[in-house]
Amino acid sequence: MKTWVYIDHFKGEVVSAAWEAVGVAKSFGMVSALVFGSGVESLAKAAFEFGADEVLLADDPSLADFRAETYASTLTALASASAPDLILLPNTFRAREMAAMSAIDLNSGVLVDVTALENNAGNITATRPIYEGKLFEKTTCSASPQFITLRGRAFPRPVRMEGSTGTLRKVSAQSGALTSVEGYSAGESGVSINDAGIIVSGGRGVSNNPGLGLDEKATAEKGFTLIGELAALLGGAVGASRAAVDAGYIPYSHQVGQTGKVVSPDVYIAAGISGSIQHIVGIRTAKLVVAINKDAEAPIFGVARYGVVGDLFTFIPLLTAAFKQKLGK
Ligand SMILES: Cc1cc2nc3c(=O)[nH]c(=O)nc-3n(C[C@H](O)[C@H](O)[C@H](O)COP(=O)(O)OP(=O)(O)OC[C@H]3O[C@@H](n4cnc5c(N)ncnc54)[C@H](O)[C@@H]3O)c2cc1C
Repeated sequence: MKTWVYIDHFKGEVVSAAWEAVGVAKSFGMVSALVFGSGVESLAKAAFEFGADEVLLADDPSLADFRAETYASTLTALASASAPDLILLPNTFRAREMAAMSAIDLNSGVLVDVTALENNAGNITATRPIYEGKLFEKTTCSASPQFITLRGRAFPRPVRMEGSTGTLRKVSAQSGALTSVEGYSAGESGVSINDAGIIVSGGRGVSNNPGLGLDEKATAEKGFTLIGELAALLGGAVGASRAAVDAGYIPYSHQVGQTGKVVSPDVYIAAGISGSIQHIVGIRTAKLVVAINKDAEAPIFGVARYGVVGDLFTFIPLLTAAFKQKLGK
C-alpha cells in the first residue's frame, strides 16, 4: 500500500498532527512525506526523523505562501504520476481545503476529522464523528487515492529519532496561482488549542463576580487572567466558549465547539461554562474533563469526570496555588 502524508506547516512550523499522521502511516508500511514550501529542506530532515521513508520535496519560491491552488495542483500532479493509495493530512483548514481541491481533480473524495483508522489488507475503514459528535460512524472511501484528514491528538505522536534519514526526491511545484498573499497580521503567541495537552477554558461565568465591584468586561479580564495563569503553569492553552468570544472577552481563535475548534486534550478544564451541546461537540474526544461551575445542575457536569460546584474566582486561585506547590514552581 502506497501511503503519503502531507506535512502541513505555516512558515516552516509544522502542525503536530502532521507527525501524528506519519506515525499512523508508518503502521501501514512505507511512508512518503510531502513537503511543500520555499526553503523547507529542514522539514524533510524532520520528516525522516519522525519516520518517513521517503520525502517528496517541492521547494520553490512560488510555494513560499500557502495558496490552495498551487499546493493542491502540486499534490494533484504528483498523485496523477505516482498513484498513491492513501493520502493522509492533518485536519487543519489549509490541509482540508487543499485535499478537497485535489480530490476533485482526481475524481476522489475526502474523509475529514477522522479519529481512528483500521487497515484490513489495504482496505481502510475510518471512524469519524457525526451528529455533533454524539455518534461515531465507520466509513470507507471507494475511490483512489483516498484522502483522509486526521483529527489532531487523536493518534499518538511518534518518537523523533534524531539522525534518521531516507530517500529525498525533489519534485516540481505547480505555480501559476490566481491569488497572491499581500501580508499576514500577527496572531497571538503561546500554545495553540489544537496542539495543547491541557486546555483551561472560560465561559460567560468569567464575567460574573459582583464582589469585585468591576464592570462586566473588567471582571472577565480578571477571570481570564486567572485562567491564563493556571494554563501557563500547566504548559497548556486557554480556551473559551462562544458566549465569552461573542461578548468580546477573548478572541475567536480560542473558541471551542461546533463553530470553533474541535480539541482533543488530555485534560480539559471548563470554568464558568454551562455545557451547551455546541460546546460539548468540541470536547468529546478530550480524555478527561473537569468542570467548575456555580450551578450544580449545569449540563457540563454530565460530561465531566471531576466536577467542582463553586465560584471559579475562588477555586481557580486555589487550584493554581496547589499545582505550584506540587510542581515546585
Ligand atoms: C449554530 C450555533 C453554533 C454555536 N457554536 C458554539 C461553539 O462553537 N462553542 C460554544 O461554546 N458555543 C457555541 N454556541 C453557543 C451555545 O449554544 C451557548 O450559548 C454557549 O456555549 C454558552 O456559553 P457559556 O457556557 O459560556 O455561557 P452560559 O450558558 O451563559 O453559561 C455560563 C455558566 O457559567 C456559570 N457561572 C456563572 N458565574 C460563575 C462563576 N463565578 N463561577 C463558576 N461558574 C459560574 C453559570 O452557572 C453557567 O452555567 C453555538 C450556538 C449556535 C446556535
